[in-house]
Amino acid sequence: MTVAAATADAERLLADEIAGRFPDERGRFGPFGGRYVPETLIPALERLEHGVREYLHAEDFQRELSRELRTWVGRPTALTYAPRLSERWGAQVWLKREDLAHTGAHKINNALGQALLAKRLGARRIVAETGAGQHGVASAAACARLGLTCVVYMGEVDMERQAPNVGRMRLLGATVVPVTSGDRTLRAAIDEALRDWVSDPLGTYYLLGSAVGPHPYPYLVRELQAIIGREAREQMLAEAGALPDAVIACVGGGSNAIGLFYPFIADRNTEILGIEAGGRGTGLGENSATLALGRPGVLHGSYSMLLQDENGQIQETHSVSAGLDYPGVGPEHSLLRATGRVRYETASDEEALAAVKECCEAEGILPALESAHALAGAKRWAQANPGKRVLVGLSGRGDKDMPTLQQTLIARLEAARQ
Ligand SMILES: *Cc1c(COP(=O)(O)O)cnc(C)c1O
Repeated sequence: MTVAAATADAERLLADEIAGRFPDERGRFGPFGGRYVPETLIPALERLEHGVREYLHAEDFQRELSRELRTWVGRPTALTYAPRLSERWGAQVWLKREDLAHTGAHKINNALGQALLAKRLGARRIVAETGAGQHGVASAAACARLGLTCVVYMGEVDMERQAPNVGRMRLLGATVVPVTSGDRTLRAAIDEALRDWVSDPLGTYYLLGSAVGPHPYPYLVRELQAIIGREAREQMLAEAGALPDAVIACVGGGSNAIGLFYPFIADRNTEILGIEAGGRGTGLGENSATLALGRPGVLHGSYSMLLQDENGQIQETHSVSAGLDYPGVGPEHSLLRATGRVRYETASDEEALAAVKECCEAEGILPALESAHALAGAKRWAQANPGKRVLVGLSGRGDKDMPTLQQTLIARLEAARQ
């Protein structure tokens, strides 16, 4: 394709995205997305798609969701001006505080919304997958709130690494099922959750944790997380008196990022940046930078960018933050990258750790390691754009990261003191 043709193609895709024409009737975001699943899953996905169309934007569903978000989740979350980070970095830094949401991150917006939808669809039992455990905790909490049975599949390896979250899920009444097949981490847990769903597609609902997977999940999760961007856009206009010059979020599967970005996509004067986990470097298995370093392929039912080797085998990934440690990414991000509307960069483990420390010291906020990647990206942007306004998605709080922080930042602080 010539450069002019490729540019015209990108402009047309972006116009379709802004007009809300994606996902299309085949569940695609341009060339990405779709439904690459075994025959046995199609009826369940079609039923879900039908349910999403019937209930998600219905007035009484939205009324119930809004009430629960306000009185149980604690929305709207604050928009916080960060004067001391602004001073250090040279631009005006604003933080959208998903760390203040119930259970400590944005994940509850999705878990609660899908659990409410499951109830409307007549399901009594929820299955979910979890890697780091954050989505499992959010799902367990939402199910407890709504009186639903909750079963969480979790890789055996992850259960060891994330023991406090396993305890939290159990306290919240969930059954945690160890997954001993495959890689015994998130990828195998997703396969097991899907298998469970297929065996009882009417009574059970599969609550997927990010903007990934087969249609309609990437759309459903975006719609439930877009409240982050809608609130932030209004709050910026009210409190800063203008839209931000840049909006920045971290990208794992991509749910907090698409939630923050989506309401800003038509604001062409606002730059949008997604920050992936650069880990220890660009080598095989050293990072989780799917959009920066991957190629298109199929994973978990969707065609999107993917970290794979020359033979199409999924690559091992690494990140200091468990929540970004995933070889795939939601299809809408692959589209946004292809259109050029969103730029994707990486922040390394060390940059993220440094950002945790700076945010703690300057603002009195302990951010999640995932969110610290967005802060590291924001610092770079701010230093290149003095005086401008940057809005950062603070996707979660860092309390869950204390074991990792103890072994890294805190150990170094203590060594320096001796
Ligand atoms: C899970 C998680 C993420 C990554 O997931 P996305 O779907 O990419 O948002 C980011 N931040 C926090 C705090 C998380 O818990």
